[in-house]
Amino acid sequence: MKPPSFEYAAPDSVPDALRLLQENPDEASVLAGGQSLMPVLNMRMAQPRLVVDLNRIRELTSIESAPDGSVRFGSMVRQHSLETEPIVRDRLPLLTAAAHHIAHLPIRFRGTVGGSLAHADPAAELPAAVSALDGRLIVRGGGGERSVAAADFFLGPLTTAIEPGELLVGVEVEPPPPGSGSAFFEVARTHGAFALAAAAAVLRVGDGGNIDHIRLGLAGVGGTPYVPGWLDELALGEAAGDALFRRIGDRLAEEVEPFDDIHATASYRKRVAGVLAARALAAAADGADGQGRR
Ligand SMILES: Cc1cc2nc3c(=O)[nH]c(=O)nc-3n(C[C@H](O)[C@H](O)[C@H](O)COP(=O)(O)OP(=O)(O)OC[C@H]3O[C@@H](n4cnc5c(N)ncnc54)[C@H](O)[C@@H]3O)c2cc1C
Repeated sequence: MKPPSFEYAAPDSVPDALRLLQENPDEASVLAGGQSLMPVLNMRMAQPRLVVDLNRIRELTSIESAPDGSVRFGSMVRQHSLETEPIVRDRLPLLTAAAHHIAHLPIRFRGTVGGSLAHADPAAELPAAVSALDGRLIVRGGGGERSVAAADFFLGPLTTAIEPGELLVGVEVEPPPPGSGSAFFEVARTHGAFALAAAAAVLRVGDGGNIDHIRLGLAGVGGTPYVPGWLDELALGEAAGDALFRRIGDRLAEEVEPFDDIHATASYRKRVAGVLAARALAAAADGADGQGRR
């Protein structure tokens, strides 16, 4: 299949890209890695008059450390860089672990961090991992730049808080407290397929042996990444162990509301999500999945 014809622009700066988007607010699509956009165009699910290619914009390709220790990723950082860049592997091993599960290497070489987040597929790994880490999405438009919490960014399947005429320019992620472990577990039909369900976990056991930091983000269990709001109340101050992790997994399995689709039933996804969450928490507690502690 071929895409419909469109005009093409490849600006080399963010202001130029924004100008093009603002001149064509409802008729332009942004091209990042093209790994989701091109299939969408080929299937004629979108027919933009103009495609604005971001691949010449150097300023969107950097990974920088901020003075407060957080890491800022330009939206055009390739997904594969999450697996190879020392700053990511050292400070945010959860993103490295999540990236391993995205598709196949050629797709991760082209696919971008910003493209995955802006595309907002509910079964995608990065939105769940960034949500578990309380990341902030940096969106720029005519009115300047705004920083949107992951919890407010993902609005539904393939729907985000990016408005017409705006661009996702980056994502900012603060590493979990030192000594935290993290893990990303997934079940997919084949290696490299989108998750039927996946769990991203971050956990720290404090000096007294009890949990003093815990976060979870799930994929594949509804229209947006799922982050349970009751986790702190249930787990902070408790001893880390399988009984607690199973209790958390069972509660999640009861309350998430995934969809039935051709790949799996909703009830299967519920069950798998609960089990994965419990296992990811256990692995994060002992660093046993090889993603380590920081
Ligand atoms: C065979 C195959 C298997 C895949 N498996 C997986 C998988 O298992 N897990 C997974 O997560 N993904 C998977 N993907 C998708 C892949 O991760 C894509 O790279 C990702 O979804 C989109 O990133 P991209 O950079 O290619 O964006 P593009 O395809 O270029 O863009 C995707 C969408 O986001 C918009 N967009 C992109 N960048 C911006 C921006 N900076 N600001 C505003 N809007 C923007 C585009 O306009 C478009 O609507 C798979 C893809 C293929 C082809």
